[in-house]
Amino acid sequence: MPTAFYTHPDCHAHDMGAGHPECPQRLDAIHDHLIAQGLDAALVHREAPLVDLRDVGLAHTTSYVAELKSRLEQIAAGGQTAAFDPDTSANPGTWKAAQRAAGAAVAATDAVIDGEVDNAFCSIRPPGHHATRDETMGFCFFNNIAIAARHALDVRGLKRVAIVDFDVHHGNGTEDIVAGDDRILMVSFFQHPLYPYSGGVPKGDNMINLPIPPYTRGMEIRELVEAMWMPRLEEFRPQMVFISAGFDAHREDDLGQLGLVEADYEWITMRVKDIADRHAQGRIVSCLEGGYALSALARSVAAHLRVLAEI
Ligand SMILES: [Zn+2]
Repeated sequence: MPTAFYTHPDCHAHDMGAGHPECPQRLDAIHDHLIAQGLDAALVHREAPLVDLRDVGLAHTTSYVAELKSRLEQIAAGGQTAAFDPDTSANPGTWKAAQRAAGAAVAATDAVIDGEVDNAFCSIRPPGHHATRDETMGFCFFNNIAIAARHALDVRGLKRVAIVDFDVHHGNGTEDIVAGDDRILMVSFFQHPLYPYSGGVPKGDNMINLPIPPYTRGMEIRELVEAMWMPRLEEFRPQMVFISAGFDAHREDDLGQLGLVEADYEWITMRVKDIADRHAQGRIVSCLEGGYALSALARSVAAHLRVLAEI
């Protein structure tokens, strides 16, 4: 069975201004490279729907969702831009993009659970893993991966899901939402110290946090993943695996100083897929988080997708 590729043109319309690394061109770089590599034709292309705000409410507080909706709708109607925090701003395209990004994650989850596809990758923005229950942060508005994971549990009735986060930055928002929820095991590594300077001490027993010093290379990170993630994932036996797929730990990415290359993303994806194949009928939903060096981002996504689609 195939791999689905979810995206939407609305995800391009969110723009945080000239020079901002989280730019619409990221999605073009990914898609252009997939076409050039002949991978595009092997994927099932799906348009991301708008999210149902009830799903968003499974991960965020009611007041946060209402307030964000009201502010982003006003910005969309008024044609202006507004800063939410020093790193995160909105333009008239943000509201639809945020709904499409979370909508992709939820729709991909349904498609995988329903057996329409084996697994899915969501090429979406804004990213999500820094958005906490009640705050925008670090380019993120809705926590796409946490919304999808909760949808799988609360709406689709799964009992145990894993979240794997290999972005160079700590997924503090996802941790804020899922810490203490024993139905979810979250495993991550991240450069430390680095923005958002959290994660050194996990907030719950269901979090495996691996803080990694700058300039660590792929082989050392693979050893840590093998020793620290794999036994816990194996023991947890997730029924579905969600990936916060940030590619900013790539050695060419200036937002972090880790030394991963495409082969490392391929390896990590294989290890995660092994777990999913053994325990979760292969069910994986992967959502784009960071990755700002456009060429490295595109090559790394291709490596990730080759493993997911078994090409
Ligand atoms: Zn990041």
